[in-house]
Amino acid sequence: MGVFAFTIPGGRKSVKIIWWYPFNSMVVTEIFKSIQGESTFAGLPCTFVRLTGCNLRCHWCDTAYAFHGGRKMTLEEVLEQVRQLGCQLVEMTGGEPLLQKEIYPLTEMLLAEGYRVLVETSGERFIGDLAPAIVKIMDVKCPGSGEGGKFCFDNLEALDRKDQAKFVIRDEEDYRYARDFIAEHNLTQRVDEIIFSPVFGKLPPQRLAEWILRDGLEVRMGLQIHKFIWDPEMHGV
Ligand code: SF4
Repeated sequence: MGVFAFTIPGGRKSVKIIWWYPFNSMVVTEIFKSIQGESTFAGLPCTFVRLTGCNLRCHWCDTAYAFHGGRKMTLEEVLEQVRQLGCQLVEMTGGEPLLQKEIYPLTEMLLAEGYRVLVETSGERFIGDLAPAIVKIMDVKCPGSGEGGKFCFDNLEALDRKDQAKFVIRDEEDYRYARDFIAEHNLTQRVDEIIFSPVFGKLPPQRLAEWILRDGLEVRMGLQIHKFIWDPEMHGV
């Protein structure tokens, strides 16, 4: 099923067109409910839909198990599983969720059912085709990831003030890259929050906190709290 809603110019009623895609399916690694560990939504119960496949290979990736395999599911099957988990907050993640075009009708369906939808993406794919109501949590890859420079610069114009930009930082070189990127592209004015997150087990959070305070950056320090609640190697949490 797909949903498209619009308001007639000059009118007060919105019109909703609903159609069925009987054969549309996507490849899904896992769907689960957990505590959101990242972004400004950290701490909230959230349903995660982890799509299979990624075109990048970040050195510190903690979801490499989502690169291959997965299960083919129709959009209706995904939606039904999300309904059963019963969370109002839903995050599309991966892998890289924007590699599967079915994410567009699926997120429209979720929005039409009243879910608050987040999309977490590497920043390498164009985010501007997502519905405006979706909160984009967009990475900018630093050099320490091994995928630095893979950013889609058209995304700067596609961001809006409810979105979030995230830098995962492995060392001081990454930190300086992130700091300079923010200044060069006026990122503070483009998004709701900028998040600096230390690579888990590689960069002590205290060191990153000291750099942020030293330079007076208006960024949010983000720790992946699910890794403190559960075993950091555990999947599906
Ligand atoms: S973009 Fe995300 S899923 Fe892909 S390799 Fe990097 S961290 Fe892993």
